[in-house]
Amino acid sequence: MLGLIVGERATDRYAVEILAHAGIPFRTVTTKNLHPERTPICLLAGQKSLTTEERSRLQWFVQQGGSLIAVGTINGLDELLGVQFGGELEQGWIHLTSPHPIGSGLQSSLHVFGGVIARAKGDSQVIAEVVDSNDNVLGDAVIVRQVGQGQVIFIAPDLMRSVVHIQQGIAVTKDGTPAPDGSAPIDDGILKTEDGHVLDWQRDRMGWGQGTWDTGHGDEARKWVFFGQPIADELRALLLQAIFFAAQKKGLPLPMIWFWQEGLPAVGLISHDTDGNEPELAKDLLQTVQQLGITTTWCVIYPGGYPPSLYRAILDAGCEIALHFDAFTGTPFTTWSKRNLRIQWQWLKDAAGVAAVSNKNHYTRWEGRLEFFRWCEELGIRAEQSKGPSKHGTVGFLFGGSHPWRPLDDESNRPRFLNVTAINLFSQDMVSDDTLPEGLFHPAIVPVSVGKWLLRQTVRVGGVAHFIFHPAHIRRQGTKAALERLVILGHELGMRWQTSQQIIDWLEQRRSIRQVVENIGDRWRWRLKAAKPVEGLTLLRLLPAEKAHSADRFVYGFPFAQSIVALEGELASELG
Ligand SMILES: [Zn+2]
Repeated sequence: MLGLIVGERATDRYAVEILAHAGIPFRTVTTKNLHPERTPICLLAGQKSLTTEERSRLQWFVQQGGSLIAVGTINGLDELLGVQFGGELEQGWIHLTSPHPIGSGLQSSLHVFGGVIARAKGDSQVIAEVVDSNDNVLGDAVIVRQVGQGQVIFIAPDLMRSVVHIQQGIAVTKDGTPAPDGSAPIDDGILKTEDGHVLDWQRDRMGWGQGTWDTGHGDEARKWVFFGQPIADELRALLLQAIFFAAQKKGLPLPMIWFWQEGLPAVGLISHDTDGNEPELAKDLLQTVQQLGITTTWCVIYPGGYPPSLYRAILDAGCEIALHFDAFTGTPFTTWSKRNLRIQWQWLKDAAGVAAVSNKNHYTRWEGRLEFFRWCEELGIRAEQSKGPSKHGTVGFLFGGSHPWRPLDDESNRPRFLNVTAINLFSQDMVSDDTLPEGLFHPAIVPVSVGKWLLRQTVRVGGVAHFIFHPAHIRRQGTKAALERLVILGHELGMRWQTSQQIIDWLEQRRSIRQVVENIGDRWRWRLKAAKPVEGLTLLRLLPAEKAHSADRFVYGFPFAQSIVALEGELASELG
């Protein structure tokens, strides 16, 4: 149903990752085998050198009723797309200008990097513009146009590159530039993930005045400023909305596998970095976690660790033992090197009997851009959780979003996806809203209202909400209450709290399902094949706009019918 033409630039192939993570079946096509009946929707992702013949073929495809979605470059298709080239886009912000299903519900600044500046011509409908940091309009960002029996949707900013750039950032070789308002002094002489972030202090953050902080004290410092909107998640969503819209317009029952098992709206992750390795504090926190009925991820720091009985208690509670790589302290085994990562991983394996599959770096230490992911891949660490804040002004969606993501190694001659999943971290410890300023015991503390906001945003986009609570701080005033409130709100919102390992196991299992959509006459058949049985698989089928009232679930504003199945071997579903 959906054909994908991947462009020639390294980041163009991130379209594959966006579709695969979204659970949408597609097949890669060439202009030659593109067909308005078999692959009625075609996503042309990025820059592709097209011959005159290939351009004519795309023109024919649309004339005959196909839908072409082109992203990031014009590729000489000015006439077909109905646009005029106006230069390269370095960066900008997508600004939605007219209500349309594409873009509906998106709330973030939609910061984009790369793509082209374009102007719509003639009969094209402009849905969004792209503006610069001073709100000057640079060009049109999203354009929809009818051509013959078909339609074209053109998205001028390069969504694939933008998502990669926001997630992966720039190489960390020196301190980053601190926020001008003093909320994020990331120039602290410690190389860490924040130093590589690319978002904008002004346009990409939001302010939050809350409760007693706002009214009781009236101090400007109590207005919290943080990355409150998942920009990369929304750029992914924008691409999916274009596909859903194209499918709906043609009456196609587009299928997809929802992100989470049993139709869960989103997933939560609480991790504990065991800094100090104090057993009594760990027991206290473990008891709290058990009372809350959740399982959590314990990132254990070298050296020392916990007594064997405590590791057993953590595992018996269904929690995960992971590594908390220390490349901060500076002893011979705690500096930034692959060797030390291996030594610490092996130390944990010997001490706890666990070959850790998840890791978070102490103090969110980081160097370079992708090298740490490569080390993890080599060692068999499948989930990496270090991308996150160490200051309150970088709390939230600093690396774009809540969706776990696969790094793209675009630095090698042969770009490839690394076999590691990054799960972004939202925050360090939190305290209850009534905690006084003197109770803020480190520079990244935020009140739990901020956490609740992030939780609701995560549910809105269907991702993973990831918060740290350190055993070392659990007896401080307001921290236990903050943890409890967060967990309870998550349950109220229908989320499930899982360990990093559970999350990664699920995502890998889901990703291993082979999906094919076949065209049989005027009907469609969706075939799914799993090597191992999968429980609680959530199948979705796009509904026409006029059937929205009977939708089981809305995905980025579009109505879907939902069924939850156990997949054993093969399943064929008639989509109608
Ligand atoms: Zn730590």
